Amino acid sequence: MLDADFFRRWMTATAAAVEREAERLTALDSPIGDADHGSNLQRGFTAVTAILEKEAPDTPGGVLTLAGRQLISTVGGASGPLYGTLLRRTGKALGEAPEVGVPELAEALRTGVDAVMQLGGAAPGDKTMVDALVPAVDALGESFAAARAAAEEGAGATTPLQARKGRASYLGERSIGHQDPGATSSALLMAALAEAAGE
Ligand code: ADP
Ligand code: MG
Repeated sequence: MLDADFFRRWMTATAAAVEREAERLTALDSPIGDADHGSNLQRGFTAVTAILEKEAPDTPGGVLTLAGRQLISTVGGASGPLYGTLLRRTGKALGEAPEVGVPELAEALRTGVDAVMQLGGAAPGDKTMVDALVPAVDALGESFAAARAAAEEGAGATTPLQARKGRASYLGERSIGHQDPGATSSALLMAALAEAAGE
């Protein structure tokens, strides 16, 4: 079973990965965006770890809803409300249980990813974070490691796509040939989840 501490470790591991990879995320956001994805997420996840430490929510749902709210209020770019919605809706779906199982987490994450697609209007193949998140959630029934691998593969598969949503879509065909920064950070999020699970 996964307790509040597990979810706190997931968020801390995500913050560390974002810190480590911030330059790369911003570099990816340079040719097909405005070169701020790394700094956006750095600001957001630094604030997430700070508020989790301060308020110390004691349920999995509490950890994720607080983290999501914090991302929404601290990240100005498109990715803030989208990642914020992902975590907040996943947390809400987990409810107030003190511990949750992997199947419940997989189901809750599915709700969160659906909310991201509704908010941003992106479907798989549009060259966004959705291209990493959807395959990851599909693979989570198998294992955390499988979810991480699926997210990484999904992120890599955005390179040949033409962007149909977000800033990159303004470039039309010129968005082809670059990996999507948001799909790349979603792969970091899933890698951090596997790390928290010790996989
Ligand atoms: P901004 O585009 O406002 O500068 P960021 O650079 O932080 O925000 O994030 C860009 C990433 O957000 C993109 O690489 C993409 O994955 C994701 N994104 C942008 N718009 C959408 C959308 N409508 N639906 C899903 N993801 C999106
Ligand atoms: Mg940007």
